[in-house]
Amino acid sequence: MKMISHFVSVVTIILCCSCAPQNGTVESSGRNKYYSRTDTNHLSVSNSEWKEILPHDLYVVAREKATERAFAGKYWKDNPKGFYFCAVCGNKLFKSDAKFASTCGWPSFFEAVRTNSITYQNDTSNNMERTEVLCARCDSHLGHIFNDGPPPSHKRFCMNSISLDFEPEVSGGK
Ligand code: FE
Repeated sequence: MKMISHFVSVVTIILCCSCAPQNGTVESSGRNKYYSRTDTNHLSVSNSEWKEILPHDLYVVAREKATERAFAGKYWKDNPKGFYFCAVCGNKLFKSDAKFASTCGWPSFFEAVRTNSITYQNDTSNNMERTEVLCARCDSHLGHIFNDGPPPSHKRFCMNSISLDFEPEVSGGK
């Protein structure tokens, strides 16, 4: 009887492990109490706390303003229908309708889903004059904005894929 009980326990553990989310973003949001796709209240969380919560590769981009390699991120190329959220806090940022094919190697959008979902900051790092784009809810670094985008805005929000969570649009079922 004891052996059967032990066998059931082992099978249960194996099944649970195989069902666990393999996606780093999903895993990180599971242990991130600040992540919400409905709460838009501003967050004031220290980098030392974010460092405990976020995966290292997301932390260095989102909180230390690193840039992921061009043509290496998960969202630079394809454009399925859906929404992009801040990978740190869940704030809704972009819609796929505003995404366009850019040769820069990073996911590019011509407008944000809401004007108050993002904030801007002057960035003079690396001997360049740029405008940094941040998440308005958690102040995480998302990328930069340039004036060479397509109509109607002629803006190019040049984003790091790792700073974004993508949620596919659910079809209407017709
Ligand atoms: Fe955020």
